[in-house]
Amino acid sequence: MISRKLRPFGVSIFSTMTRLALEHEALNLAQGFPDFDGPGEIFDLARKAMEEGCNQYARSRGLPVLTASIAHHFTECYGLDYDPETEIVVTCGATEGLAASILGLLDPGDEALLLEPYYDSYPACLAMAGASFRSVPLVHPEFALDLEALESRITGRTRLLLLNDPHNPTGKVLGEEECEALAALCTRHDLLVLEDAVYEQLTYDGRPFRPLAAFPGMRERCLTVSSTGKTFSLTGWKIGWVAGPKGLVDAVQAAHQFLTFAVATPFQAAMAEALRRFGPPYLETFRNEYRERRDLLVEILRDAGFQPAVPQGSYFVLADITGLTDKKAPEFALELIRRVGVAALPVDSFYTEGKEGEGSRLLRFAFCKRLDTLEEARRRLAAL
Ligand code: PMP
Ligand code: GLN
Repeated sequence: MISRKLRPFGVSIFSTMTRLALEHEALNLAQGFPDFDGPGEIFDLARKAMEEGCNQYARSRGLPVLTASIAHHFTECYGLDYDPETEIVVTCGATEGLAASILGLLDPGDEALLLEPYYDSYPACLAMAGASFRSVPLVHPEFALDLEALESRITGRTRLLLLNDPHNPTGKVLGEEECEALAALCTRHDLLVLEDAVYEQLTYDGRPFRPLAAFPGMRERCLTVSSTGKTFSLTGWKIGWVAGPKGLVDAVQAAHQFLTFAVATPFQAAMAEALRRFGPPYLETFRNEYRERRDLLVEILRDAGFQPAVPQGSYFVLADITGLTDKKAPEFALELIRRVGVAALPVDSFYTEGKEGEGSRLLRFAFCKRLDTLEEARRRLAAL
């Protein structure tokens, strides 16, 4: 009974792998959610908001205190000024922000450009909008961006570059020159940019992240999507947003008002305060803790015989399995769950050539996990 649009997508690989991890009592390094909680102080803020009567529908575009905090965040971090009344929409996580942007902006027959591997919701949302995509691969382990190849994918129907930076699952963070070249390409071909920046606070080794919207001349053609799930280790709260110039944000709102209308009010109130309270000192500790987890997981995977690429950002490591097995990644992932008790994510569904190409040799491991969880993974992976 599933519509023709959605039939090709089946069940999300995240749901599948988490179900298998639970069934086999495996460590879940497959789905990207922390196995620890965010700051307890933020829970108090949510409780307080509920007690103070923040319990009915919020303004559809988001609680004014929250859009003001989000606007403040863009100014502080990137020198980008957005009007909290008209240029920001609060969404149910970045997931809804992406869906509302795609549904609000694209018409049937339009095309988008993607970098491959791509997050699984992008092709599905494009299909729901009746749009399609062309992509260029980022090849393991360097993940270099081939701009000429990207430009060659542009047709008369291309409307949008859908970009994820820092990038899931490769961990690539675009460099200054790559961003400048992408900005020039989008200007040359008059493309809109939808940038998914959910890992904006997770970059390592001093590598800076800057959204494309902050590059000269780009503000007017860019929407930036993000959420508080990763930054505050509260992925279940689903407070996300889209920011951009009024004309584009009006299109997002046109879809958002019919997708969810508004997002959980007390959590919005809590995050409005948290975004202001948890500034640079919190973020520095947060990044340092993640760098430690990254370095530990890379070492564990190397010792176990994988070929991991060291991520510049995000909380994932993409590892080549060639040295360990002749099997393809989905089959090997099942073996890892059953025999070793560690769940990793096969990423073949993030590639257009799917089961045959580069993605068939790669597994993604998440390191948004406690150090003792990662040490337990080391013990279990030693069985390989
Ligand atoms: N985009 C990317 C690249 C992600 O990895 C995720 C999931 N963590 C999302 C979007 C979804 O974010 P949210 O949980 O805020 O909906
Ligand atoms: N974004 C998270 C990941 O990449 C999970 C999101 C989801 O479960 N849909 O693992």
